Amino acid sequence: MEHKLICTNCGIEYDTEPASTRCEECNEPLEMEIVSNGEIDNSIGFENSFKRYLKFFPYIKFDSNVSLGEGFTPLVKTNTCNSWYLKIEGSNPSWSFKDRGTLTGVLKALELGYKKIGTVSTGNMAASVAAYGAKSNLETYILVKDEIAEEKIGPIGIYGPKLIKVKGNYGELYKNSIKIGRDNGIYFINSDAPFRVEGYKTTAFEIYEQLGGKVPDYVLVPTSAGGNIRGIEKGFRELNASGLTNVIPRFIAVQAKGCNPIVRGYRSGNLQVERIENPETIAHAIENPFPPSGNQVLRMLKSNDGMAIDIEEDEIIEAQRELAHMGQFVQPASATSYAALKKLFNEGFISMDDVVVCVLTASGLKYTQSLEMHKIDVRSCSLDDLEENLK
Ligand SMILES: *Cc1c(COP(=O)(O)O)cnc(C)c1O
Ligand SMILES: [Zn+2]
Repeated sequence: MEHKLICTNCGIEYDTEPASTRCEECNEPLEMEIVSNGEIDNSIGFENSFKRYLKFFPYIKFDSNVSLGEGFTPLVKTNTCNSWYLKIEGSNPSWSFKDRGTLTGVLKALELGYKKIGTVSTGNMAASVAAYGAKSNLETYILVKDEIAEEKIGPIGIYGPKLIKVKGNYGELYKNSIKIGRDNGIYFINSDAPFRVEGYKTTAFEIYEQLGGKVPDYVLVPTSAGGNIRGIEKGFRELNASGLTNVIPRFIAVQAKGCNPIVRGYRSGNLQVERIENPETIAHAIENPFPPSGNQVLRMLKSNDGMAIDIEEDEIIEAQRELAHMGQFVQPASATSYAALKKLFNEGFISMDDVVVCVLTASGLKYTQSLEMHKIDVRSCSLDDLEENLK
């Protein structure tokens, strides 16, 4: 491969993915080298997001049969301010942003000749990998926690993957799955796998185009493993390196107070995340107590002049309600980006003049249990009283 994977920490270069997908020297995440001659292919139109931005992926072979129509998600103005936007990632084929990275992961697996793929997840990534595995007729292994809630199994299992409940430490499972998988011909596309992170770049290209060729001042991203925020930031860096833009937005990593390893690391200033012992939050999709890309997110935020912020449970629920009252029903994890925007506005950090994008990572219908946290008003009446009730 002429393009190198580079360690985000020590800079060692790799020709191909090592067995663990992490640096063999320092165990930090690898990243594809930056593209500095990217172009947007206007001849492609808007039929396929990845294809339109293919010049930013010289190391991935595109096959349109793998696509489920991911990307080109709406960018919608908030009701609060004319320059504050919501990027609606729940509009993806499996209703979360994970589809962008699953596409690039599966393309890589196919290019490398794999017939089997897998992931370790109990939530949106599991559904996404199962969906893409089905589309490409790949044998798909989804490893979930033994204690997975029963209602989470159906929305993954419906795609027909091989679902395996694994007893034991979940963090260890992430580490070992990649190695055990590769030894057995299964390409694991976990949370911050380099070619998954690559796929998230398309969010940046879309935002740039949707803002009419401009770059926002801030991008707020609900952050767990750290894959999405890394990918979006890299997308903006590549737009800049390719001469399409002359600034890079400042990034804000958003976590729940009940599971905030990256925010703690950011506050400590020492670029190291430490494991959270008893994570607890309704924002389950961002509840990784020891994020594999945590240290890299801290390094990225430092060079980006970004920041990390955490959100209380009641602020998450309130933001979910406010978003729904603007017509966007998202899951609690996704509402944290908007909650963070409100908080940073109230603290005077962000103003009404700033162009801001909150990434709303997934649909609210993926986690309807959260509705129990909301007071829903219903009235009833007889047909005879209806007119009276409508007045
Ligand atoms: C996966 C996920 C996240 C976190 O993304 P990372 O890449 O793990 O940081 C945020 N919100 C939702 C809804 C998710 O599914
Ligand atoms: Zn290294």
